[in-house]
Amino acid sequence: MMNQTDAHQDIRDAVRALCSQFPDEYFRKVDAERAYPEKFVDALMEAGWLAAMIPEEYGGTGLGLTAATVIMEEINRSGGNSGAVHGQMYNMGTLLRNGSKAQKEKYLPGIAAGKLRIQSMAVTEPTTGTDTTKIKTTAVRKDGRFVVNGQKVWISRVQHSDLMILLARTTPLADVKKKSEGMSIFIVDLREAIGNGLTVRPIPNLVNHETNELFFDNLEIPEENLIGEEGRGFKYILDGLNAERTLIAAECIGDGYWFIDRATKYANERVVFDRPIGKNQGVQFPIADAYIEIEAANLMRFKAAELFDAGQPCGAQANMAKYLAAKASWEAANVCMQTHGGFGFANEYDIERKFRETRLYQVAPISTNLIFAYVAEHLLGLPRSY
Ligand SMILES: Cc1cc2nc3c(=O)[nH]c(=O)nc-3n(C[C@H](O)[C@H](O)[C@H](O)COP(=O)(O)OP(=O)(O)OC[C@H]3O[C@@H](n4cnc5c(N)ncnc54)[C@H](O)[C@@H]3O)c2cc1C
Repeated sequence: MMNQTDAHQDIRDAVRALCSQFPDEYFRKVDAERAYPEKFVDALMEAGWLAAMIPEEYGGTGLGLTAATVIMEEINRSGGNSGAVHGQMYNMGTLLRNGSKAQKEKYLPGIAAGKLRIQSMAVTEPTTGTDTTKIKTTAVRKDGRFVVNGQKVWISRVQHSDLMILLARTTPLADVKKKSEGMSIFIVDLREAIGNGLTVRPIPNLVNHETNELFFDNLEIPEENLIGEEGRGFKYILDGLNAERTLIAAECIGDGYWFIDRATKYANERVVFDRPIGKNQGVQFPIADAYIEIEAANLMRFKAAELFDAGQPCGAQANMAKYLAAKASWEAANVCMQTHGGFGFANEYDIERKFRETRLYQVAPISTNLIFAYVAEHLLGLPRSY
């Protein structure tokens, strides 16, 4: 099951080989220390894997989203956690699609060479949550700069990134025709911003995921850091979400296979009542059930990625892939935990770590209910529920 081949076998083999240098003990230790997997990320960047979607003219490998999802899947399938790095893939895409020639020339070669990290995107705010168009962080033009004030929450990898994409209101909500207008996105150079108008406060949380509260107090951003047209930032962010959701779906698929692999192995090895526990239908059927769900979710993930790469609309497939994969990986996590009995709780089996990690994807980057709302409204033509 774990050795099936597909069109991306070369990528799978190479990423697996790199990941094999970072075994369970490595990620267990990083998790216990609540540290960032610095060596692993450096190795990925040096090998060029995080530059997969950067065009060759800027020094990347020019692969599509499908290949990028395979890279993320393999990291999770090997027992790692792409949550430490996946921001680089989709944030780079936002810059690539909407940035000026000058911005691309300034940043992309450095990102491709593994010298520059664009791991962070700041959208969510404490008082508005999923209702993004109500964000209160403002960016006001003044003497060739934008001055930013406001607050963000749950902003990941800020302490391990050089650049961050920021969504802020540039025209007050009361002055726009449509609430989705009047927001803009910016490149924030974190190396300059932190301590100069930007304060970062880490949020300890369920998983070893570096995420933070951000406070903007007259942070000044040069005008040339505005990405694309002023006022169209929300659209740019939305355009990037399909890629993000498809990447996350692939990570969940990777987690799912990891859980199934561990559950199957243990069910074959563990002998109770003089027989392997996997001989009991009550043990093997839930594993089979979870495996079927992952395989099905995987089809939708490839469908979404292929449509994206063909430049076709893929919002429906990206949302549904994320929903199906996050659900399947969570079910596989539960089955794996149950199959291991008490040992599933022991840190040294890594199941409780992966269990915590995969749980996140029911909530972020978009919660399950909001996917239902999308499908109900946009695919089924039901009234908007919010
Ligand atoms: C570890 C972690 C990392 C994150 N990283 C980032 C990041 O890097 N950048 C970033 O910008 N954000 C990030 N987020 C934020 C994440 O995208 C949000 O948490 C998520 O979108 C949900 O928003 P919220 O937490 O404000 O929940 P809320 O919007 O407050 O919703 C709470 C609950 O109510 C439900 N709900 C709300 N409205 C409705 C409705 N109309 N109908 C039905 N149900 C509804 C939601 O589904 C959810 O279950 C991260 C979050 C976490 C936990």
